[in-house]
Amino acid sequence: MTTIDLDLPWDNTFTAELPADPVEGSALRQVPEAAFSRVEPTAVADPHLIAWSPEMAELLGLSPEQVTSPEMVEALAGNRLLPGMDTFAMNYGGHQFGNWAGQLGDGRAIALGELVTPDGSHQMIQLKGAGPTPYSRRADGRAVLRSSVREFLCSEAMHFLGVPTTRALSLVRTGDDVVRDMFYDGNAAPEPGAIVARVAPSFIRFGTFELPASRGEGATLKALADYTIRHHFSDLPNALNPDRDTYLAWFERVCETTATMIVDWMRVGFVHGVMNTDNLSIHGITIDYGPYGWLEDFDPGWTPNTTDAHMKRYQYGNQPGIAQWNLVRLANAIYPLVDDVEPLQGVLDAFAAAFLDQNRIAFARKLGIAEPVEADDELIESLNGVLQLAETDMPIFYRRLSEVDLTALREDEIPTPLLEAYYQPDQLTTSVVGAVNLWLERYRDRVDAQPDRELMNSVNPKYVLRNYIAQVAIDAAAEGDYAVLSEVYDVLRRPYDEQPGMEKWAERRPEWARTRPGCSMLSCSS
Ligand code: AMP
Ligand code: MG
Repeated sequence: MTTIDLDLPWDNTFTAELPADPVEGSALRQVPEAAFSRVEPTAVADPHLIAWSPEMAELLGLSPEQVTSPEMVEALAGNRLLPGMDTFAMNYGGHQFGNWAGQLGDGRAIALGELVTPDGSHQMIQLKGAGPTPYSRRADGRAVLRSSVREFLCSEAMHFLGVPTTRALSLVRTGDDVVRDMFYDGNAAPEPGAIVARVAPSFIRFGTFELPASRGEGATLKALADYTIRHHFSDLPNALNPDRDTYLAWFERVCETTATMIVDWMRVGFVHGVMNTDNLSIHGITIDYGPYGWLEDFDPGWTPNTTDAHMKRYQYGNQPGIAQWNLVRLANAIYPLVDDVEPLQGVLDAFAAAFLDQNRIAFARKLGIAEPVEADDELIESLNGVLQLAETDMPIFYRRLSEVDLTALREDEIPTPLLEAYYQPDQLTTSVVGAVNLWLERYRDRVDAQPDRELMNSVNPKYVLRNYIAQVAIDAAAEGDYAVLSEVYDVLRRPYDEQPGMEKWAERRPEWARTRPGCSMLSCSS
C-alpha cells in the first residue's frame, strides 16, 4: 500500500512576520500587541468528507487523490497536522451593529497556514468550526452542519457568479453533535457538527486594524499594515517601505475593491446580513457567510437576519451606505499612519462617486445596455420602483427580460416571459400592469427594441442559491443524503447557463418556504 504524498509547499508569512501572542493554548484572554495566537484544532469524533471543490483543489495544486485521502480528510477536520502547517487564530476587533465591540478574534476559525500554489500565490487555509481558541468568549468554537453547508455552497456559488469571495475547499462532517438554540427561545438542541476549510489570500479584516488602533498600539498597527501592503498590495509605490502616500493609495484600493464587491452583491441580489467591520475583508472579497440571504421578492428593505429584524441595518438597500460607514471606521483606524484627515476624507468621497458609476454600469448591463450614460440612472431607478409594485422575483424578472419581444408590448398584459416572476397574480391590477408596460416602453425606446441579450444573460444569473434551496440541501444532508447538495452545487457552478433539466432550481420560491426558518429568515445561531 502506498501512502499518499502530503508534503505540501507551506510558506507561513503571517505567523513568521507578525507579532505573536506569547501565550499558547485556548484559555480565554485579552491579547494585546499581537496579530494572532498559536492554537491547535481540537480533534473530532468521526470525520467524513461530504463535499469538496475540484476547482479550488486544482488552484491549490492538490490532486483529487490528495484531497480525498484519509490523511487529508483528517487534516481538514483538524485531527491531524501536516508537516509545515503553523496553526493559529487571528486577533481582531470590530464594530458590531454600529457599536464598538472590542476584541473579537477567530473564535472558531483556526488557520492551518499558507499554501504556495502552482501559480506562485499564497493561499491561507482555515478551518471554520475547529474548536476553542483564546477568542471563543462564551461559545464552543464549533459550527453546525446547516451553517457549514450554507457557507460551502454560497462561497463557491458566489465565485462562479463572478463575485469576489473567500472560497471553500472542503466540507467535512465531524461525527460530533453541537448544541444550538437555533431560535434563541431557550430550546437548545443537538445538531450535527461540520467544518468548512475556507481559502483566501488572507483573512485580514477591517477589524484587524481597528483593534490595535483602539488600544493605541502603534507598532502593531504599523506591522499589520506594512505586512498587508508588502504581501497583498505589492504593486503600490514603496510597498516594501510604505510611507504616507503608500498608506493612502492602499486605502484607496480597499475603497475601490469594496465598491466593486458591493456592486456585485447588488447585481445578483445578495444580502450579507452581518456587515460588521470584523466581517469585511481588506481584499474586498465577501467573507463570513452567516445569516445571508438572496433577494427573491425585490424588496430593498429586506434583511435575512432575524437579529437585525427591527433595526434592519443590513437590509439589501443599505449595503452601499454601510460599506462606506465601515470604510470610515477603517480610515479612523489607519489615521495614525497617515496623520492627516483631509486626504483620507478625499478618498472616502471618491468611494461614493465610484460606487455610483460602477453601479450604473452593472445595472445597465443587466438591461443589455453596454455603454450607459448618466441619464440611464432614471431608467434603472424607475425599474426599482416598478419591481416593488407587486411581489416580483428579482432573478427571474431580469433573466426573463431578455426574452421579451419589445416590439409587441400590450398595455393590458404582462409579457409572458415576465409572468413567471410574479408571486401573487391577484396583485397584477390594471394599474400595476400599466406601470410595468410604461416602463417597458421607455426601455424599448432606450435600447431601440434590441438590448444586448448575450450581455444580459452573462450578468443576470438563472441560478442563485435561493434561501429555500440551501435548506432543501441541508435537510437531506442532515439525513445522510448528499445527492441534493451535490446536484445543487453542480448547478451553481454554471449560474449563467440554461442547463436544461435543472429548471426546477431556477423557479420561484415555493409557497411552503415563505415562512419556514432557514428559507426566509435566519438567526445568527450557527
Ligand atoms: P460572526 O458574526 O459570525 O462573524 O461572529 C462574531 C464573533 O463571534 C467572531 O469573533 C466569531 O469568531 C465568534 N463566534 C461565532 N460563533 C462562535 C462559536 N460557535 N464559538 C466561538 N466563537 C464564535
Ligand atoms: Mg465574523
